[in-house]
Amino acid sequence: PSNSSGDEMDRAHSVLRSVWGYDSFRPLQADAVQDVIQGRDSLVVLPTGGGKSLCYQVPALVRDGMSVVVSPLISLMKDQVDALTSNGVSAALVNSTQSVEQKRETAERLRRGEIKILYLAPERLLTPKTLDFLRSLPISFFAIDEAHCVSNWGHDFRPEYRGLRILKEQFPSASVHAFTATASEQVRDDIAEQLQLNQPNILVGDFDRPNLTYRMLRADGKLNQIQQCIAQHPGESGVVYCITRKEVEQTAAALESMGVRTLPYHAGLPDDVRQANQEAFIQEKVDVIVATVAFGMGIDKSNVRFVIHAGMPKSIEHYQQESGRAGRDGLAAECILLHSGGDLMSWKRILENGDRSNFQSAMASVESMAALCNGVQCRHASLVEYFGQEYDSDNCNACDVCLGELDVVDDPITLAQKILSCVVRLKERYGAGHTVKVLTGSRDQKVIQAGHDQLSTYNLLSSEGATAVRTWIEQLISQNHLIRTGEFQSLRLTESGRALLKREGEVTLTKVSAKSSSRRPAANES
Ligand code: ADP
Repeated sequence: PSNSSGDEMDRAHSVLRSVWGYDSFRPLQADAVQDVIQGRDSLVVLPTGGGKSLCYQVPALVRDGMSVVVSPLISLMKDQVDALTSNGVSAALVNSTQSVEQKRETAERLRRGEIKILYLAPERLLTPKTLDFLRSLPISFFAIDEAHCVSNWGHDFRPEYRGLRILKEQFPSASVHAFTATASEQVRDDIAEQLQLNQPNILVGDFDRPNLTYRMLRADGKLNQIQQCIAQHPGESGVVYCITRKEVEQTAAALESMGVRTLPYHAGLPDDVRQANQEAFIQEKVDVIVATVAFGMGIDKSNVRFVIHAGMPKSIEHYQQESGRAGRDGLAAECILLHSGGDLMSWKRILENGDRSNFQSAMASVESMAALCNGVQCRHASLVEYFGQEYDSDNCNACDVCLGELDVVDDPITLAQKILSCVVRLKERYGAGHTVKVLTGSRDQKVIQAGHDQLSTYNLLSSEGATAVRTWIEQLISQNHLIRTGEFQSLRLTESGRALLKREGEVTLTKVSAKSSSRRPAANES
């Protein structure tokens, strides 16, 4: 650790001005830069667009020796190296698309000490040959980008990231700095543990995006809903995210025929087409890009005025990231999410066909996202709190909940009473699934055997459908009228739940139509 970090922070500020042309660090950036300069291990959690790159790029120019940035995406690395090079910073990358000649030249420049920042993918970094070579270089620190990939609690676990734990052993004099936009406490702790960080300073940035207005609506005539939103932004740039490639193609074609200037983007398109469509969007030759999650990584377009999700994303992290591409210039922008019960099933099918080792945690992420969609708490507050921050306003004035736009049921107390009294009749010993079955009059073995078809609340809400009842139970939980307890996650009434049985207190329940859940295409159509 340095004892002249004051001077070095001054140098960091002048580098920020002379190389990047920015006047000042954002609040958390200054702390993050200081950690790197002092060689103190750190974990920095900042949302997408929060400015993570500068946290390690600036110190790389201030500290002696060189730095290594570990990043999972080749395309992202190339963008970063190009940007740095055009700012006059000596940066390089090594990857599998390069010729032997190119790699040899980079190695030469590294030996001569001409490179300050080297970008590597983890699988390349961890080959014995690369490690040997790196040990001969004066490496002052490692920056690990997308560090949540090291944790299988996260939403994007990559086994090759696990190997990065050897860095602290093999490079004892280098500090290690992890960066991510995913901040649940569990993932945070796991990152520090997996990377063997030494008493890391943990910095969590501000996740709120006050200039974004969030709306989470039930899908009901999806194409119309999308078109209505687009129509409110004539000539402005926007992104429509779909779950499957097929939906991307269909939606893009439908919008095109309605006169919207649009192009599709997904991983199934040839590279040159994808590249061209992305360029057309960035250069505003089209207004709207219809895309899968494949779109957006590393794209720095600041004036996106709306992001529409035509289906539920697979995690809150993905939602934060994708919706966060709107309004990066700080001006007002709109985020609309259209969801239906079928989205959960679509994701289940997709995940079942994917990497099974991750299935449980991936499904838990999908369910958290569904709970947020069905929730009746301020969207800004829900998002920020999910990322481990407090939200201190009662009314954000920038989401469907706070703007009073939720489509609520007329007499929520009576409806809540029916559900709560069923929980009481079940002696508060059963979970949500069983309670739904009883309320909707299921002939399920377990219901019959327990004699629950004899309860007065049996079949009480059969006309509403299981999806709706399930949603209302989640809403009662999120408003703290019910809690899950014990090994079997049995439902139990809280004090305010008991009050509600006597029609005291307040509750909000939203309308859930059974019909919109059956309209989604099957996941395997992609
Ligand atoms: P992240 O990696 O966290 O998603 P980036 O590092 O790509 O974010 O930064 C997002 C944008 O913010 C970039 O355009 C970057 O140049 C800009 N930016 C970062 N730090 C500052 C700053 N201190 N002042 C002004 N602009 C900044």
